[in-house]
Amino acid sequence: MFCPAVLLKPLSETFVRSILFAGLSLLIVSSAVGQEYKTGIEWDEPRVVTPGAANSEAPSDALVLFDGSNLDEWNGNWKIEDGHAIPNQGSMRTKRSFGDIQLHVEWSAPTEIRGKGQGRGNSGIYLMDRYEVQVLDSFENATYFDGQAASIYKQTPPMVNAMRKPGEWNTYDIFFTAPKFDVNGGVKQPAYVTVVHNGILVLNHYQLRGATSFVGPAEYSVHDPQAPISLQDHGNPVRFRNIWVREIKEPTGRRTSAPYVLKRGERVDPKAAADQEEEARFQRAVKAAVEQELKKRAAAAAQAAEANSAPPVTNEAPKPE
Ligand code: MG
Repeated sequence: MFCPAVLLKPLSETFVRSILFAGLSLLIVSSAVGQEYKTGIEWDEPRVVTPGAANSEAPSDALVLFDGSNLDEWNGNWKIEDGHAIPNQGSMRTKRSFGDIQLHVEWSAPTEIRGKGQGRGNSGIYLMDRYEVQVLDSFENATYFDGQAASIYKQTPPMVNAMRKPGEWNTYDIFFTAPKFDVNGGVKQPAYVTVVHNGILVLNHYQLRGATSFVGPAEYSVHDPQAPISLQDHGNPVRFRNIWVREIKEPTGRRTSAPYVLKRGERVDPKAAADQEEEARFQRAVKAAVEQELKKRAAAAAQAAEANSAPPVTNEAPKPE
């Protein structure tokens, strides 16, 4: 009986050990079942906030800055026409000040197209009265890209142009993190802004370089942790409606212990649990290598057996009949 040499080759000690490891790995893997990581933080229950009838409507914890009826929340001389706020005699500012906020604003560039570039449907939303999210009629209206709608003026263009046609309503949902300054006036943490224009993400956690400026580079200068929101009067009859703001408040909780792993009702140090998981990963890799080696050997044995059973090759000429 043919017995290929490959099958007679003894398994090396390392190979046998690998097989043992593979078996062990099953035990270790099964030991991870029933484990649960615990942060050691006792979180407060998140407050319940009732959403508006539509996502564009103010939720229950929002401060409505303009609902079409009055401008009581603002300082300035803007006018209300047909329930819309219209720029007049300079910018208008909120009476209250804000830090980290979610801000919803709806605006429309004039239906009648007048002017071009920066002169067409220009206004702006100044966060903390100094960081401008540009408002401009950017529907088929060429201008410098870091000055078009939803840009941070002279700092970055939006990722895409999500502008609706003149006369149609645009929405901005702005998520702003105020900068923090150290006692020496240095920037401890810059400001960040995310802008969703008509439901489309156009600025993603953009790091502001400083206050918006037309004549010089953007720079930070120390200011209060809270400041008003202002809307720019650039001389164009841009209309605004449905403006509301929410303060951003991070989840709260208390650390009651170091993180731990709950394993069969016992607290286990997460480092030890992580080491076990790492070991299990290693053993899984060993098991895969063993299986691959066995398959390779079986294939080699099958190939050798097939070669042995093939008819002998000869150079002799066939005998004549
Ligand atoms: Mg502007």
